Amino acid sequence: MSYTTHLKCRQCGRTYEIEPIAGCEDCWAPLEVIYDYERIRSEVPRQSLESRPQTMWRYRELLPLKDDPWVGRLTGFTPLVPAPRLAKALGAREVYLKNDAVNYPTLSFKDRVVAVALSKAREFGFDTVGCSSTGNLANSVAAQAAAGGFKAFIFVPADLEPEKLLNTRIYGATLVKIKGNYDQVNRLCSEISQKYSWGMVNVNLRSFYSEGSKTFGYEIAEQLGWRLPQNIVVPMAGGSLITKVHKAFTELQKLGWIDPAAPKFFGAQATGCSPITTAAKSGNYEIIPQKPNTLVKSLAIGNPADGFYAAKVILESGGAGEDVSDREVVEGIRLLAETEGLFAETAGGVTVATTRKLIRQGQLNPNESMVLAITGNGLKTVGAVSGEFSEADVIRPRLVEFEEQYLNIPAAASA
Ligand SMILES: *Cc1c(COP(=O)(O)O)cnc(C)c1O
Ligand SMILES: [Zn+2]
Repeated sequence: MSYTTHLKCRQCGRTYEIEPIAGCEDCWAPLEVIYDYERIRSEVPRQSLESRPQTMWRYRELLPLKDDPWVGRLTGFTPLVPAPRLAKALGAREVYLKNDAVNYPTLSFKDRVVAVALSKAREFGFDTVGCSSTGNLANSVAAQAAAGGFKAFIFVPADLEPEKLLNTRIYGATLVKIKGNYDQVNRLCSEISQKYSWGMVNVNLRSFYSEGSKTFGYEIAEQLGWRLPQNIVVPMAGGSLITKVHKAFTELQKLGWIDPAAPKFFGAQATGCSPITTAAKSGNYEIIPQKPNTLVKSLAIGNPADGFYAAKVILESGGAGEDVSDREVVEGIRLLAETEGLFAETAGGVTVATTRKLIRQGQLNPNESMVLAITGNGLKTVGAVSGEFSEADVIRPRLVEFEEQYLNIPAAASA
């Protein structure tokens, strides 16, 4: 069962069979998976989804697999959380958090893309898989490769957070640390992909991998009662997630599953690595590569593969791109934790801080509904906030000491 018809170059339109291929042979642009929407529209009524398990696979007709998923069968359908206390702090009316910090199995939105990529790797007959990663992809490929019985080689910049490194090795994957930034790691992976017959998740499986991101968008629409929010704020690394959420919303309208609507897309980055927001702010799509220098390692891609298309989605939707300093990122993490009890990683701090900035600038209308994409878990980047708190004093187990220390009651007064 599959509704996919072919792959198509986003730039020149050249078409390809469904095969593991890194990009268009003519212009190197990304390839898009094309579906037979007419057939889906006539064969799959929206109501038929309602009785299905609450995972990303309830939208399986819109995903590029022939067979049942090989890995990640329980991934997705994370909570969409109303966030009234955060809304109040931001001066906004209606705020929701799409919380992929609790995605299964490795606590980031990357579990969605890896579930599709490794299931497709199985269909193509690969027994070894790999990826280049800024951290979360590494964790998810390592975990799901273990669960799927693949051998895995994971390539990362050597300066990643220790939690992200450990959360890769624990699954038995071969971790290859590279002296260089993500863009250099990614180039090496392209070379490896040409020499070895491996399923490289973000190289020759990239067009399938990125389709997994669409489920983040389908779920938001379904969880809002088959409606779209008026605004969505998405953190960007390579720019894939934001373009695929846009594709998801467009598909749902094409299928007649939701009423036509025109949500505004806001892209968020850290100022220390902001090639996409820099392009969007100057009003065009041309990406000028940067050398990353930021606390926010998960978004540190200086030469984003989908940057052009991400900037296009943002500007054509009437939204905006904006970036925030590392200090603002930490404030964003704390604000989210203190108002909604949700501990996000640095990318979540980027989303919250950028939302605050956009509202203050008048670029994001606080009277309209907005969804904030929370894409990763704070427990994986504790170093980003550990310096925020001074060591707590240790007291003896005595009531007077507690009262003196924490309630400001002098010892004599309570005696
Ligand atoms: C990978 C990642 C993103 C965004 O990735 P894109 O490359 O833009 O699709 C956002 N947040 C987190 C936590 C990530 O790991
Ligand atoms: Zn092309």
